[in-house]
Amino acid sequence: MAEIKAKGGAFTVTGRSGNGDEVWKLIRAAEGIKNTDAPIFRAMLGHPDFTTPKNGEKRTGSSCAEPHAVAQLLAKSVSFKNMKLEMATDQNGSKMAECHFCAQWIHPDGKIDADFMVEKYVTSPGVLPDWCYF
Ligand SMILES: [Zn+2]
Repeated sequence: MAEIKAKGGAFTVTGRSGNGDEVWKLIRAAEGIKNTDAPIFRAMLGHPDFTTPKNGEKRTGSSCAEPHAVAQLLAKSVSFKNMKLEMATDQNGSKMAECHFCAQWIHPDGKIDADFMVEKYVTSPGVLPDWCYF
């Protein structure tokens, strides 16, 4: 199991892999408090690009430790621009490279690439709820 620490505002959270169901619950909670970044994250993680395992992996884009950490922060009302992820570690504490899903939306410095999500996955009307505009 992979783990990752992430900071956002006053919060430090630990994301753990294999928590896809909880990731979706946290995103819904974040949408419930109208965190405008939450629907953007949902649009990306729910897209077939992220729900279809590839490159020989069995997981989907929402089952990594990274989205679990980000979803926790979103549910605490933190926005992408205030988040920073550390590098994930395995059960022995060794650093792990990001998978092909996470490498697309996390910058090498651990900041979130919100522009990538918006440009690639929020392309049509109706993807975001009407309270979310930017
Ligand atoms: Zn990943």
